Amino acid sequence: MITDLFAQDVFTLERMQSYLSRHSYRELQTCIEDSKPINANLADEIATAMRTWASQRGATHYTHWFQPLNEGTAEKHDAFISLDPEGRIVEEFSGKLLTQQEPDASSFPNGGLRNTFEARGYSAWDPSSPAFIIDDTLCIPTVFVSYTGEALDFKTPLLKSLDALDRAATRLCRYFYPEVKSCTTFLGWEQEYFLVDKELFYQRPDLVQTGRTLLGHESAKNQQLDDHYFGAIPDRVIAFKKELEESCYRLGIPIKTRHNEVAPCQFEFAPIYESCNLANDHNILLMSLMRRVANRHGLRVLLHEKPYQGLNGSGKHCNWSVSTDTGINLFAPGKTHTDNLRFITFIACTLMAVYRNDALLKASIASAGNMHRLGGQEAPPSIISCFLGTDISNVMDKFLAMGTDDTLSITAKQEFSLAVGQIPELLIDNTDRNRTSPFAFTGNRFEFRALGSSANPASAMISLCTVLAYECRRFTRIVEERQRGMDQKDALYQTLCDYIRESKPIHYAENGYAEEWAREAARRGLNTDHHVPRLYEAYTTPESLRIFSEMGVLTPEELHARNEVKWEIFIKKTQIESRVLGDLCLNHVAPKVIRYQTRLLDNVAKMKEVLTPEEYEHMAEQPLELIRKMSTYLVDLQRLAKEMIRARKQVNTIEELRGRAYAYYEDVCPYMGELRERADKLERIVDHELWPLPKYRELLTL
Ligand code: ADP
Ligand code: MG
Repeated sequence: MITDLFAQDVFTLERMQSYLSRHSYRELQTCIEDSKPINANLADEIATAMRTWASQRGATHYTHWFQPLNEGTAEKHDAFISLDPEGRIVEEFSGKLLTQQEPDASSFPNGGLRNTFEARGYSAWDPSSPAFIIDDTLCIPTVFVSYTGEALDFKTPLLKSLDALDRAATRLCRYFYPEVKSCTTFLGWEQEYFLVDKELFYQRPDLVQTGRTLLGHESAKNQQLDDHYFGAIPDRVIAFKKELEESCYRLGIPIKTRHNEVAPCQFEFAPIYESCNLANDHNILLMSLMRRVANRHGLRVLLHEKPYQGLNGSGKHCNWSVSTDTGINLFAPGKTHTDNLRFITFIACTLMAVYRNDALLKASIASAGNMHRLGGQEAPPSIISCFLGTDISNVMDKFLAMGTDDTLSITAKQEFSLAVGQIPELLIDNTDRNRTSPFAFTGNRFEFRALGSSANPASAMISLCTVLAYECRRFTRIVEERQRGMDQKDALYQTLCDYIRESKPIHYAENGYAEEWAREAARRGLNTDHHVPRLYEAYTTPESLRIFSEMGVLTPEELHARNEVKWEIFIKKTQIESRVLGDLCLNHVAPKVIRYQTRLLDNVAKMKEVLTPEEYEHMAEQPLELIRKMSTYLVDLQRLAKEMIRARKQVNTIEELRGRAYAYYEDVCPYMGELRERADKLERIVDHELWPLPKYRELLTL
């Protein structure tokens, strides 16, 4: 039974309650609810409770579990022991060790925020995400900040952005429901991934070192027949999923759906949505569990956004909504006029936030891996737009048609309120779906689909929550300003109309993959850039710097530093890819091609010895043509590989990270496609027995 397993390995609040005094438990609850720090005595009591529980479950070690900027998680395990004054070993875990640690932080990316002489970073407990046990270790979710308080992780700004949105949304909400005290953001992610046979994986240096295939011709049959989606799942995959699900349940991750995706060997996991911070931790945890569990079933998980050329890539759809403490989902229409006015207001603020920050949102999902997926014929294009569905779009249009006049007449107001009242209640099931939209309204939530499968979802959530918080606050301020000259209702209506009108260019309901869209989007002033290192600059425009700092999420210094980290990661990833590809071309592919060429040449030479001139002419024609063709590709391959290496050497001399990242994108990346094209042609020619790498049709069979 899932319910028996669920959260067995988590120190949940309920569990904590039975280990703490009633007074302490209540104190902790208040701290969590009001995001207040926990005092030393309480921390000691909680630490003892945690250790007692963890030891009873067999844990011997503990670790602060945090999310540094280089993706994934970091942890340093310590045993629950110390020496007592007599020098004897005793079990111990204090409040001090629970709440704060000083991991050797110098090896984590920091974008120059810490000079080496103060290479100290602190991890500090996040009481809003419960501790859990993996193997014999108690993992304590923490934030990770520098000695001087700058965020060096994803969790710190995520918590701050959730806080900012809570404050701004609550304030705006009170126009409609004065009793609302707080708002919570929810996240339901859908994690796509590929599985590959472990043995074959290890025969592909590109998969091992870069997570994607840098070479490989498409196989004859890939996803044309669409027979993988909802198809039968192979036995060892089922075994893998079962074990993974069980691990998830033990850790309190409410996995709900598992199904095949469109491409062969591609799958998806989705949990029930949870509060954003917890859901985010759970996604990071799931990704690491997946790797470990797959290993036990002779499989490897590929979380890369585009492991195979010509096949669909993997994304991480983020379903996102905000609810009040009174249980109202702000993105869901309701029964009353007030409910629907609130609904339209929050939808309009969201659209405005996305419209005014489309470049920033794109920057929040841009990465070396995701750039291969976006803009392909399967993933959202690298243009951010919103899809609302026909019903909501109509309501918005009706609004505008009636309320363009600055002084709304009484009749208009009545009609206006009618339009609001008419929103169908059960949109959840009947909103039309547009799968090509990167940011789609799906009835009672938005689905941000542009995230890459390997990303930490916090990256996108931080930007999204911050810009919505900012827009809610701006909206409230405009209404307040107008209220001086008119009644509140009119002020609200007018502001709403302005918001709907101004954010119109972000609406797009047609096919996002269509070529005209890029031109149309440019005409509308939307960002259509693909250049990943350049996209990051959206974080540091004067407008973004202002929004992040006014919302109290990230300071200008932190934003600049984080961009340095992003550029550095981009450089490292493309540098490794380029090195591996150079090696594959020159040391794996080329020698085999030469061997096959020699074999054919021998064959032709022997023909000449034994055949009559007429026979020779007839029979040698094909092999000679092959030899010539192969030579053309081979010469190109060797030349391009050497040119790429030269380009890389040149680029590596650029001191400044930003410039080097740009140069990698502009001067090194283009070689990769060129090389691949030649190598893939050769794969089709060379004797199968000789080919040095497992081919797509082998990799894509389980
Ligand atoms: P689809 O594949 O059709 O997009 P799925 O059923 O795979 O949909 O995933 C839907 C996801 O949306 C699930 O993770 C679910 O928990 C989440 N979700 C549902 N309602 C909300 C909501 N109000 N806020 C956030 N996430 C939600
Ligand atoms: Mg989905």
